[in-house]
Amino acid sequence: MECYLFDEPTYFFFTSDLPQLLYYSHVPTTIIALLVGLFVFFNARHLLLNRLLLLISLCFSGWTLISLIAWTNIHGDLILFTWPLFGVFQALISVFSIYFIYVFLNKRDVGFTLKLLFLALLTPVLIFAHTDVSVSGFNLAACDSFGYEGLAYKIYYTGLGFLAMGWIGALLIAKYRKAEGSFRKQIVLMGIGIESFLFSFSFFTFIATYLTGLGIFPDSSLELYGLFGMTIFMIFMSILIVQFRAFNAGITTSSALIVALVILIGSQFTFAPNNTSKMLTAITLIVTGVTGILLIRSVKKEIAQRKEIERLAQHLEQANTRLKALDKQKSEFVSIASHQLRSPLTAVRGYASLLLDGDYGPLPQNAIEPLQRIEKSSRLMTYAIEDYLNVSRIESGNMKYNYSDFNLKDEVEHICDDLRQDAIKNGLSLIFRSDLMSRGIIHADLGKTVQIVQNLIHNSIKYTKEGSIKVLVRDDVVRKKIHVDIIDTGIGMNKETLLTIFQKFERADNANSVNVHGTGLGLYVAKMMTEAMGGEVKAASDGDGKGSCFTITFPLAL
Ligand code: ADP
Repeated sequence: MECYLFDEPTYFFFTSDLPQLLYYSHVPTTIIALLVGLFVFFNARHLLLNRLLLLISLCFSGWTLISLIAWTNIHGDLILFTWPLFGVFQALISVFSIYFIYVFLNKRDVGFTLKLLFLALLTPVLIFAHTDVSVSGFNLAACDSFGYEGLAYKIYYTGLGFLAMGWIGALLIAKYRKAEGSFRKQIVLMGIGIESFLFSFSFFTFIATYLTGLGIFPDSSLELYGLFGMTIFMIFMSILIVQFRAFNAGITTSSALIVALVILIGSQFTFAPNNTSKMLTAITLIVTGVTGILLIRSVKKEIAQRKEIERLAQHLEQANTRLKALDKQKSEFVSIASHQLRSPLTAVRGYASLLLDGDYGPLPQNAIEPLQRIEKSSRLMTYAIEDYLNVSRIESGNMKYNYSDFNLKDEVEHICDDLRQDAIKNGLSLIFRSDLMSRGIIHADLGKTVQIVQNLIHNSIKYTKEGSIKVLVRDDVVRKKIHVDIIDTGIGMNKETLLTIFQKFERADNANSVNVHGTGLGLYVAKMMTEAMGGEVKAASDGDGKGSCFTITFPLAL
């Protein structure tokens, strides 16, 4: 069955009596689609995303191939056989596009149910392709099947294109809302690329062939414009490849792809048959050329930046190793120095106390005050050394904890009894209260817990000029916690101070006005030790001059 009214094409496809845009819209777009599809596939063929892009471009190429056959060939049997494949390829492109976007967004394959759904969507197109539902006849005079196409079939596969657009749009928008940074940009580029392709492809082919079928247009040459959507899609894919290393493509090969695209589009000048094609070639060439240059430039800049970052990272690593070594040496130094200071200091302090207690006989009156100063200063120095030693133990990971069960309430009460004299000497009252539902047993290191509570009560005595210090032990048996509140009427803390006091060497501005002796290490040590034992320390204050409340919390060992 041959259409005798038309000339036999040379080399299967080539004939002169055709719309001007035919070859221009079919050949380069197909080559571009295949070029990007194959490039992506061979770059990392194990990636599902890459395989799907290749499938889309292969289906597109299949479509353009049968379209060329339909336009140029005069063998009726062949045209009648290939005509239904328009629907098949179009449906495959739509479904593969949805699949492709799922994989692009989630970076993994879709589930079994979704695959079944995809198959279900394709089934009617595949089943009815070569039946009357799809194409029921052939017009030998016009050498085509317009007017014999089943409308329901056509609407169904075109509908799949619009369904894909909506579905993909919804997926992209939902993901865009949650995404951050560069992935957002990738979603936008992908969205513009694939949606403009699906829209122009489905819309133009449907409108063109439908209107031709109705006899409104003499031929379906309008569909030729729809094919340019593929070039747009592939340009956006190239931007994704070059800028974001999408599809796992390397930088240099991606630049090669851009160059190839520009050459390809440019080479069309040589066979662009008429002015419209030349104009379109020029526009596409300028757009691709400019985008290409910009992309390659950004890639070059990125390579330079990456090299710089690598160099800096290497430097940083060396510096870090050196710093670590120095830090270790520092800790060792502090530890040794502190140990060596501690022994002579203990002797100074001990002898000063003995002298003051009269163990070496009565002291001349004028020697008592200087001796008291010696005793106090050496005591403060012992505390400071203890703080330094604790920090160096914490930082070198050498702090040892001996766990046992003990009654926290009893311990806190003893500490209060011991420190009450100190408070009274400073004109303060120290009140102890407990409000417990449990027995108040905790599992922790007794010595360290005592040290922490002592430290916080000491601080309250140090930073309170007048008023009182209340120590309250309370529990929460539901949450299995026990809290020790140390509430004073002292200098208080403002919001900025509250943020920093638990850091090393941090002292509030107002601390020196009350008590110059301090290392700024006590709270840091207390916090680190409490946290190491599973507890926490918190500070609260209504502001400068409004008193403070420190709370130590431990899990109850019920
Ligand atoms: P030090 O008391 O040796 O300076 P700490 O680490 O024990 O170091 O305390 C850090 C800072 O926290 C103190 O310098 C002081 O500014 C503030 N601070 C601690 N306890 C109190 C308190 N009870 N009232 C007000 N400020 C306090």
